[in-house]
Formats: sequence, structure tokens, C-alpha cells
Amino acid sequence: MSQDIVVSESQLSRGALDAASETPVPEWLALRRRMGIATCLLGASAAIAVSVLEWQKGQPALFEVYGLPAIAVWTLALALIYRGRHAVFAEAGLVFAGAGILLGLLFVALIQPRASYESIIDAYEILAWFPALYLFSFALFSKAKALVFSVAVLAVSLLLSHLGPVAVPPEARLGFLEVYIANLGCIGFIFTLSALKERYVETQDLAEALRHSADTDYLTGIHNRRWMERRLDAELARCAALGQPIALVMLDVDRFKAVNDEFGHDAGDRVLQRVARVLDLSVRARDLLARWGGEEFLIGLPGIALEAAVDVSERIRRMLEAQHGGSGPAATASFGVTAAVVGDDVEGLIRRADEALRLAKREGRNRVVTQAA
Ligand code: GH3
Ligand code: MG
Ligand code: MG
Repeated sequence: MSQDIVVSESQLSRGALDAASETPVPEWLALRRRMGIATCLLGASAAIAVSVLEWQKGQPALFEVYGLPAIAVWTLALALIYRGRHAVFAEAGLVFAGAGILLGLLFVALIQPRASYESIIDAYEILAWFPALYLFSFALFSKAKALVFSVAVLAVSLLLSHLGPVAVPPEARLGFLEVYIANLGCIGFIFTLSALKERYVETQDLAEALRHSADTDYLTGIHNRRWMERRLDAELARCAALGQPIALVMLDVDRFKAVNDEFGHDAGDRVLQRVARVLDLSVRARDLLARWGGEEFLIGLPGIALEAAVDVSERIRRMLEAQHGGSGPAATASFGVTAAVVGDDVEGLIRRADEALRLAKREGRNRVVTQAA
């Protein structure tokens, strides 16, 4: 029988299904993609606009002549990659290309004749874009990778401007050094913010996991009594306010003690998991389902009147009946069904469902019995 129970996580439990639909990842990724595309298009427009303005002013600097059009073309290409849903490549491409363009431009600026005042100004202009690069890398990569990347970019530019044939003239070196120290501070600051954000997200995830486990039955993965009591109250009030019916079904596995006695406690556990799975697959997303106690389950059916709730219960009863087979334990169940009337409270509703269930047991089990108000 145990192979009957081996199902995917999402099939096994409503809890798992709910958790999957509640996790923000897919929505969050879609938002990230949209923002990525928007950023690329915005970046391309800004680069083109600045480039055109500089050309109109006359005597455009190196960066405006080569850098900005290159950035515009590259960000437009990345927007297309984003559209094709290859976000990881697009983002890595964005950051690495940004670094390549800025370092390349710095190199070109500094390789100008040594005393050139303009080339120093060009280099400063290019350095002013570096913090944007750090920000991007911390936004897109893990903080460790972003730190390595940012420090590496800074180190390369430091080597570029202080070593070899393209070094800035000695009188300008102190100014450059100050810029690099400020850049290092900037990287440290972003790193700290990023670590704090990570900590915050971890805490949020932990709180969510705790909330989830407090509402989930550990054996079957469906919701537990605590969750049901809270939700039933709210759902009853909501249906009353909307003038909608709501039905309650209480079901109890028949002669379950005998299953445990004959097949062992583990086999009994697997029967409970199988029952929970059948119930989970049988109810709608808006229905409330919980393991109420030992081998007892409760189903709240908002918008469903008594007769329809009987049909639902009958369908589930037949499915449970059809599930057992082979030499394993059988698992039929008895059902008590009731529907809310004006002025009902949760306790009254549960009491009626319980009475109907006792009646179903007395009448011979494996049946659906109703109890009107
Ligand atoms: P009835 O048809 O009248 O409901 O008979 P029953 O044997 O199902 O009812 P009874 O209340 O006598 O026995 C319920 C059994 O369910 C006793 C208890 O050991 C068992 N049980 C409760 N929780 C669990 C569980 O989590 N796992 C297992 N394996 N057994 C459980
Ligand atoms: Mg029982
Ligand atoms: Mg019982």
C-alpha cells in the first residue's frame, strides 16, 4: 500500500499547494524582468539624449562620442535578451559590459597626452559612473560576488591610472586617490546595506515558515485545527454578510483502531495521508480543509447549500471507498453534513456536523448523514 502514498509534495497536501502559490518567487521574478527591461530602455534613452545634447554643444568628449552610443546599443540588446526571459545572462551582460565600457573609456582617456587637462576631466567623468556599477552588481548578484566584482573593477582602474604608460600625471594622482578611497567607502556602504537587507529577508522567510508550520498538520501536510478554527469563524461571518450559504462536513475514518491494530501504526499513518490527499484533491481552492483530530477531518464549503454538500461528501466517500485495494488496509469514512442558518455560530455548526457523524456511525458507517438546523 505504501506506494499509493508516494505522491508529489504538491499533491500530498493543501498546505504545500498553498505554500507554492503564496511564495512570491514567480511574481517577483516577473517584476524583476519588467524592471530590468524598463531600466534598459531608460538607460538607452538617457544615453542617447545625453549624447545628442553633447554633440549639439560641440566638442564632445570621448565618452559622449563612443561610450554613450555604445551603452545605448548594449542596453537595447539587453532589453531584447530580457524579453527572451534570459534574465541571468542579461543582468550579467549588463554589469560586465558596463565595467568593460567604463574601464575601456578610462583607458582611452588616460592614454591621451600626459598633460592634457581635458583627459583628466574625461577620466573623472567616467569615474563618476562607477558607483552606479557597484549598485547594479549588488542588486543583481549575491553580495559576496558583487563585492569581489566591485573591488576588482576599482583595483583595475587604480592600476590603470597609477601604473604603466597611461598613468595620470603625478600632480593629479592625489585627486584620483581620493576618488578611489571614496569609491571604496561607497562599496563598503552598499555591502552593509545589502547584508542588512539579506538579514531582513531571512527573518521574513523564517517568520513565514513558522506561520506556515503553526497552521499545518505535520503528518498530512494539510491545515490543522488551529487554522480551521480561525478561518471558519471568518468564513461564516463573510457568508452571512453576503447572504451566501455555507456547509460543513465532518468525516471520520471507519474502524481506524482496527487498521492500527492489524497493520501497525505506520500503515495507519499512511492511510491518514492518503485520505488527506483524496480530500485535498476533491475540494476547491476556496474550500476549507483541515485535519480536525486523530482520524477526523473537517471541510468548510462556502457558497454551498446542504444538498450540494451532500453530493460533494458522497463523491468523496465513494473515492475513499474505491481507493483501498490489494491486501492493504481499507479506509472508508463516515460523513456528517450540515449547513449554516441565520444566527448560527461556529460551535453550533460543528456540533450539528458532529451529531450527524455520530448518526452515520450508528447507522452502519461508510455513509453520509445530514443534520439540518
Ligand atoms: P469508528 O469507526 O467508530 O470511528 O472507529 P475507530 O476505530 O475509527 O475509532 P476510535 O476512536 O476507536 O479509534 C481511533 C483510532 O485512531 C485510535 C487512535 O490510536 C488512532 N489514531 C489517532 N491519531 C492517529 C495517528 O496520527 N496515526 C495513527 N496511525 N493512528 C491514529
Ligand atoms: Mg474513526
Ligand atoms: Mg474518531
